[in-house]
Amino acid sequence: MEKITVIVPCYNEEDAIDYFYEEINRVMTEMENIDFELLFINDGSKDCTLDKIKEYAKKNQHVKYISFSRNFGKESAIYAGLEKSTGNYVCMMDADLQDPPMLLPKMLKIIKEEGYDSVATRRVTRKGESPIRSLFARLFYRIMNRISDTELMDGARDYRLMTRQFVNTLLDMREYNRFSKGLFGWIGFDTKWIEFENMERVAGETKWSFWKLLLYSIEGIVAFSTIPLTIVSILGMFMLVIAFIFIIFIVVKTLVYGDPVSGWPSLVCIITLIGGIQIFCVGILGQYLSKAYLETKKRPIYIVKDTNIDEKNQNVCKI
Ligand code: UDP
Ligand code: MG
Repeated sequence: MEKITVIVPCYNEEDAIDYFYEEINRVMTEMENIDFELLFINDGSKDCTLDKIKEYAKKNQHVKYISFSRNFGKESAIYAGLEKSTGNYVCMMDADLQDPPMLLPKMLKIIKEEGYDSVATRRVTRKGESPIRSLFARLFYRIMNRISDTELMDGARDYRLMTRQFVNTLLDMREYNRFSKGLFGWIGFDTKWIEFENMERVAGETKWSFWKLLLYSIEGIVAFSTIPLTIVSILGMFMLVIAFIFIIFIVVKTLVYGDPVSGWPSLVCIITLIGGIQIFCVGILGQYLSKAYLETKKRPIYIVKDTNIDEKNQNVCKI
């Protein structure tokens, strides 16, 4: 029998998770000829999320969980889920019903009948989101697609169904700074995109502040493009050429017209401008350096504190 692993990263989802569990159960009963594994990843929640998950696990043998020792972030939760998944197909969805579980039968049908390796979803509207946030999101996708070879889909969600081969390829990439939206595209394979209208979260609050999203977008750029480094080098060369022309100009001017001391305000402006550009460029270098630094430490991507998965009796489905 075919098996789907559903990975659900949860961080402080006590308000939403019951609704989610109810809904996914409905879909699981609907798809009766498929075996399911419902894999909750508790990403260091500080509320009763884990208790609720344990309750589900007691009642339902298909429910598995991994609980982290602290909050490691959604990317780590996704990785842990992929690593522990055993199904022929693996799906990830959020615990807040923003990724409608009822799309699952349609997604499975596409993979099985049309031969795709993964089915991904994107929202075509950003209803219920603040305009500034949407604006920055659009800008991010535009910049990212310009400066990186990997194509990123605007409005793409992490909700997708993948074949075992696709998952195993993702697992081979053990980088510490993970940016899944980029990795999905980078590994290739055939992906079909299906679209849906944005849904608002059923309960609870989003874990992503504007600041967190900004840092995440920088992570994405640093992980998938080295163009900023090239831009910095070109900028440096450009300023060097201008400096040379300027020096020649000043020497000639001094020789021809003498040297009255004037113009220090403009000098101060130029110094602060160049100083600013330099610090900005050093900052860009620092971003790459810090990522490389963390990468060389080879720390684990997540640490498990509690789980009901019995590693010895786990049979991962073959491709
Ligand atoms: N999440 C997580 N760890 C985090 C932040 C979020 O596991 O540090 C989970 C969260 O519980 C949810 C999913 O990631 O299931 C998406 O989070 P959220 O709904 O807050 O993001 P949004 O949909 O607003 O982008
Ligand atoms: Mg959400």
